Amino acid sequence: MKKQFAVIGLGRFGGSICKSLSEQGMEVLAIDTNEDKVNEYATIATHAVIADTTDENTLKSLGIRNFDHVIVAIGDNIQSSILTTLMLVELGVNHITVKAQNDYHEKVLNKIGAHKVVHPERDMGVRIAHNIISKNVLDY
Ligand code: ATP
Repeated sequence: MKKQFAVIGLGRFGGSICKSLSEQGMEVLAIDTNEDKVNEYATIATHAVIADTTDENTLKSLGIRNFDHVIVAIGDNIQSSILTTLMLVELGVNHITVKAQNDYHEKVLNKIGAHKVVHPERDMGVRIAHNIISKNVLDY
């Protein structure tokens, strides 16, 4: 059976994850409060819904508990990101990956039980730096 993913927040980061998972043949539910974003991903994801994930009943009615992996890519609204993550943890979602906006956000996310916290700008900076170094080593 195909793995089922849910992506919450369809900004550049969440949108790119949603697109990439879909291209690799995964089942993806795309969620955002913004109707335009949801329309944009309606033909890319398996399903796309307008929903506010800070509402527990909404999460329950989406059957979020049954997804193999949920990615929280709510960016600027740290409060919504934390609240959504907390409810996903409480509902017993198996794998929760969350995008952190800053170090304090990351700390709180780890504390409340997110399984993986990513910090794309910082992580990518580190990767590119390593890449540049290894490329230079090879060049000499
Ligand atoms: P980017 O990923 O584009 O670099 P970003 O990480 O700052 O930027 P935002 O532009 O903040 O991301 O995008 C986050 C998305 O999450 C927005 O499309 C926003 O509508 C959505 N969002 C915010 N709050 C909620 C919520 N409570 N439930 C669902 N979606 C939400």
